[in-house]
Amino acid sequence: MPPYRIGQGYDIHRLIPGKPMMIGGIQIDSPVGSEAHSDGDVLLHSLIDALLGACGLGDIGDHFPPTDERYKNISSTVLLQHVLPLIEQTGYRPGNIDATIFLEKPKLGPYKQQIRENLATLLTLPLDCVSVKAKTAEKFPPVGTQEAIAASVTLLLHQAS
Ligand code: MG
Repeated sequence: MPPYRIGQGYDIHRLIPGKPMMIGGIQIDSPVGSEAHSDGDVLLHSLIDALLGACGLGDIGDHFPPTDERYKNISSTVLLQHVLPLIEQTGYRPGNIDATIFLEKPKLGPYKQQIRENLATLLTLPLDCVSVKAKTAEKFPPVGTQEAIAASVTLLLHQAS
């Protein structure tokens, strides 16, 4: 077994009025939210894809098909909690995670620390092993024109010992 595995995930959702905006399991005060089958949490979806990818376990759509009614409006935190034991079974555990959120509005500065703390709790990681960054898209579409929200996650898994 190699000592380390690396994973990356990316996700983007259309923004529509009247949906809650969830990022990293935290609700953001916003008039728009992700159009999605689940709660549309781009950050947790990217994280799930990075975890699955690192272990060669497919992607989020393989595990939670959007056609499956069981996952309608489901909290992405619940999806993550389904995935974490699968990762544990491979003998690896997260070492650190580096995440970037791409969103024009609202500004995420006031939420970054809360999101970071929640990810650290969900992954049982010390806070300094979790990074959450936020970027706008300089008004370029679709993120910059406020039509979409996106996120990307890179993480390292190491052998659990
Ligand atoms: Mg998604």
